[in-house]
Amino acid sequence: MKPLKELTRPNIWTLKPYSSARDEYNGAEASIFLDANENPYNTPNNRYPDPLQRELKRLIAPVKKVLPEQIFLGNGSDEAIDLLFRAFCRPGTDNVVAIDPTYGMYQVCAEVNDVEYRKVQLDEDFQFKSDKLLAASDDNTKLVFLCSPNNPTGNNLCQEEILALLQDFQGLVIIDEAYADFSDVPSYLNKLEDYPNLIVLQTFSKAWGCAAIRLGMAFASKEIIGIMNRIKYPYNVNLLTQQEAIRMMEKHYQVQEWVKSLLNERSRLVKEFRKLPCCEQVYPTDANFFLTRVTDAKRIYDYLVEKGIIVRNRTNVTLCHNCLRITVGTRPENDALLEALKGKKWEK
Ligand code: PMP
Repeated sequence: MKPLKELTRPNIWTLKPYSSARDEYNGAEASIFLDANENPYNTPNNRYPDPLQRELKRLIAPVKKVLPEQIFLGNGSDEAIDLLFRAFCRPGTDNVVAIDPTYGMYQVCAEVNDVEYRKVQLDEDFQFKSDKLLAASDDNTKLVFLCSPNNPTGNNLCQEEILALLQDFQGLVIIDEAYADFSDVPSYLNKLEDYPNLIVLQTFSKAWGCAAIRLGMAFASKEIIGIMNRIKYPYNVNLLTQQEAIRMMEKHYQVQEWVKSLLNERSRLVKEFRKLPCCEQVYPTDANFFLTRVTDAKRIYDYLVEKGIIVRNRTNVTLCHNCLRITVGTRPENDALLEALKGKKWEK
């Protein structure tokens, strides 16, 4: 990996971050706070939250087997994705490389930040070769985006290729593990010590059932996390979110139960979906959704909308012609989907 200083935008490397009242006061117990122009009434929402979310990180660190200083928390993992562009990519000069198809926000953030986004198409098994990503990169490539299990395809990316890329790429490699709780492949968090250029993204939005609270996590070296913390908004994770996440960490056994039952439902749903006349193929999945090629994605999508059932039409996405992406719901929800499609075949 190139030295971090070389990978970071020079203005960010030298940035003197905003120092909030809560940053400056970090001493012994105090009971009178006259430092942040808050209203003394309406406890606890009158006070600014901890800008570094220390209590929450203290609970997350042992579960993820990392140090609290290796954790960035943000307003969804989408915030972490955007911050990575802002920290490392010089607008109009640098570029990033990503697999295609994948999660759409990498490209949107690239475009918002005026950073060239280079796509490398996956093969017909939705896998990539490290060499092809490296061939698409140049001296100004700061980031490579991988997503495993990938969205919208659902599959895990090949470990051998991921490790080869981590070894050979001189910039930072992001592995988005938003769906990793549903997969039996171990998280790449256990590779953080071996690869200083690795950044792992996870989220409370999927297996943890907390999409509404907007809480995403990035894990990396202390140095990389330090840069992200320097440029984030001071109070980027609000108090209600921190409190709810702490409550969830304390009942994490429930998450394991949800995952188990969703995986059972996934097997059943996929098995039944394959029997439907409109289904041409269900692709292998390691996530809480599956990608399926159907006879006519647009017509089936519209028909389901009419029935009040919303799936995701991915027909315009690379390699996904006539594909729908279907999230695993509760058993009655999945049954409603199967029932709606029973006996229906839309000819091409
Ligand atoms: N990464 C992937 C692969 C996703 O599919 C999503 C959400 N659809 C996200 C990140 C964003 O998650 P969050 O809710 O944490 O912003």
